[in-house]
Amino acid sequence: MFDSLSDKLDSALHVLKGHGQITEVNVAETLKEVRRALVDADVNYKIAKEFTNTVKEKALGQNVLTALKPGQMMVKLVKDELTQLMGGEAEGINLSGNPSVILMSGLQGSGKTTFSGKLANYLKTKKSKNPLLVACDVYRPAAINQLHVVGEQIGVEVYSDEGNQDPVAISKAAIAHAKSNGNNVVIIDTAGRLAIDEAMMTEIANIHQAIEPQETLFVVDSMTGQDAVNTAKAFNERLNFDGVILTKLDGDTRGGAAISIKSVVNKPIKFIGTGEKMDAIDVFYPSRMADRILGMGDVVSLVERAQEQYDEEEARKLQKKIAKNEFGFDDFLNQLQQIKKMGSMKDLMGMIPGAGKMLKDVDIDDDAFKHIEAIIHSMTPAERSKPSMINASRKKRIGKGSGTSVQQVNQLLKQFNQMSKMMKMMQGGGGRKMMQMMKN
Ligand code: GDP
Repeated sequence: MFDSLSDKLDSALHVLKGHGQITEVNVAETLKEVRRALVDADVNYKIAKEFTNTVKEKALGQNVLTALKPGQMMVKLVKDELTQLMGGEAEGINLSGNPSVILMSGLQGSGKTTFSGKLANYLKTKKSKNPLLVACDVYRPAAINQLHVVGEQIGVEVYSDEGNQDPVAISKAAIAHAKSNGNNVVIIDTAGRLAIDEAMMTEIANIHQAIEPQETLFVVDSMTGQDAVNTAKAFNERLNFDGVILTKLDGDTRGGAAISIKSVVNKPIKFIGTGEKMDAIDVFYPSRMADRILGMGDVVSLVERAQEQYDEEEARKLQKKIAKNEFGFDDFLNQLQQIKKMGSMKDLMGMIPGAGKMLKDVDIDDDAFKHIEAIIHSMTPAERSKPSMINASRKKRIGKGSGTSVQQVNQLLKQFNQMSKMMKMMQGGGGRKMMQMMKN
């Protein structure tokens, strides 16, 4: 995420951090570089200039030049200002209606349908809501179909009315359906065009007026940079929307949209999309994003993700097994599944301070565990719980069955053996805490 911007900011601030003496001249130079980095990331020039002016003012006001650790203080000032620029606090969505109606707007291809599904899934699994998805694209039958596929995937009902050409009527009927059906959230996916046009704007404005949604969200592809900001402006003028959804932040986006959009439309970014899968959705926290941009990682999100997967009951069972020397490959497989549920490997690595930068050019394969899983699946249940019984001929079979080699099988068995020993050792006294941490 924002690799190039992070690099440039890092090198801009590095100069300052390395200097024994900090003068007004090198503060000015640093800020000039920060500004250049922001503009290169497609942040509007005016915003970038205001940004560095504010940081400069604050730096002078707080006597950075004579501070004990001026470099660190500058980094903090830049971080705080970035956080402010992106919105300050995180803002949730309004779910006060019964049902709460959420209207999605945005250009075609921005990720509206995908995000509608992600949001429905999020509200269902994390907020115990019973959402209804509504297909309101009356021009593209494929779009209606796509929403049905998404709905099926996440187990959420989709309301559509093929052949009906009136999106206002469809929306109203869907809300009535939700009321009688017990759905407490209605998410309306509307038609988008490839570029802003009057017909689309009128259509969505009409729906907006007719159904008076609790929440109108504007979905925008973060890869489109300044265009994203301009599109947001146009939609906001017509809809006065409540929040922005930035999609495709997992891609090679430069970051300009994330940084500029709030100050241009004065509406918060509420969620971000970080992948094509249904669970690739995150609440947008300006401060955590600033940390990530400055290469400081995002430990808070990492811990939260781990906690979501943490099951106390499971952890207790596991601990017992380890104590009794019964930790087997099935348990190991289980642990791998839990790590995988936390998100893509690259995304997780990016949350570790410093790791994002180090691993930026390393291709981290999400299928990194594939071989391990294949090997384990090729073992018999008895072998999985007691790997020591695997002899040379079985190793050969397992290698063949899993499409790997005897060496790979051996390597996994050796690692597993070492891990089991380590776990056993840590069972005694102080090690318990460490185990808990590992399982977390
Ligand atoms: P719509 O036309 O606005 O409804 O856009 P879609 O939901 O059909 O999305 C367009 C394309 O973007 C699809 O191929 C999606 O899989 C992809 N997409 C949507 N959100 C994300 C995201 O957060 N990350 C990535 N990498 N792709 C996304």
